Amino acid sequence: MNDTQPIIRIKHVSKDFSLGTTVVRALRGVSLDIPRGAFQFVIGPSGSGKSTLLYLLGALDRPSGGSIEVLGQPIDEMSPVEQDHFRRHEVGFIFQSFNLLSNLSALDNVLAPFIPAGIPSQLRKRALALLEQVGLGERTTHRPQELSGGEQQRVAIARALLKEPALVLADEPTGELDSNTGNEIFGYLRSLGEAHGTTVVVVTHDQSYITANDRVLTLRDGQVVED
Ligand code: ADP
Repeated sequence: MNDTQPIIRIKHVSKDFSLGTTVVRALRGVSLDIPRGAFQFVIGPSGSGKSTLLYLLGALDRPSGGSIEVLGQPIDEMSPVEQDHFRRHEVGFIFQSFNLLSNLSALDNVLAPFIPAGIPSQLRKRALALLEQVGLGERTTHRPQELSGGEQQRVAIARALLKEPALVLADEPTGELDSNTGNEIFGYLRSLGEAHGTTVVVVTHDQSYITANDRVLTLRDGQVVED
């Protein structure tokens, strides 16, 4: 793919969940192109399909219909092994509840996804640089319980960016934080996304974080609400 092509192409995507005899239609024909390097919000009321869409983009689940291309690859058609490779190498995930390991330092949490493969010194340097970039250069040996919620989420941002992913997916990243800390987190997500050329897709129900340069997709009942 060339640089002018959208990094993400979502075409007529639907997702149904079967619950006993009833079917929940979580997404009903969603289409969207996201350009490379964009900061893309997905907003909408609870139950509108935001997280479902994010999981599909991260190949954590498969659509019931339609197609999803990320970086020119049809992720809905990949084998489980290819999807696993895609998740490990191309996507950084950030969750509402930080998902840090409580017995590891901030630095080791950033490095944790790489521990099974071994940590070359270059990678450790990059992890330290990322912690510096999120303002935690003095906190690298602290464990999660010694950090505030905002600091823990900054560790999670550094962890998500360590593998230099093309795409960062964040699910309600400020859901457990007060609004000042939330603004700080969005500041780091924006500046690091820009500095690393990363496309960032953020699900939130809180529209107050949206700025003029952001792209916004609004969902309601699994469908795109046109402006
Ligand atoms: P949002 O993130 O906007 O709150 P979700 O994407 O989590 O919405 O959910 C959309 C709809 O799909 C909701 O009605 C939800 O109950 C349903 N849903 C989501 N995940 C599942 C699942 N694994 N099994 C059954 N229903 C689900």
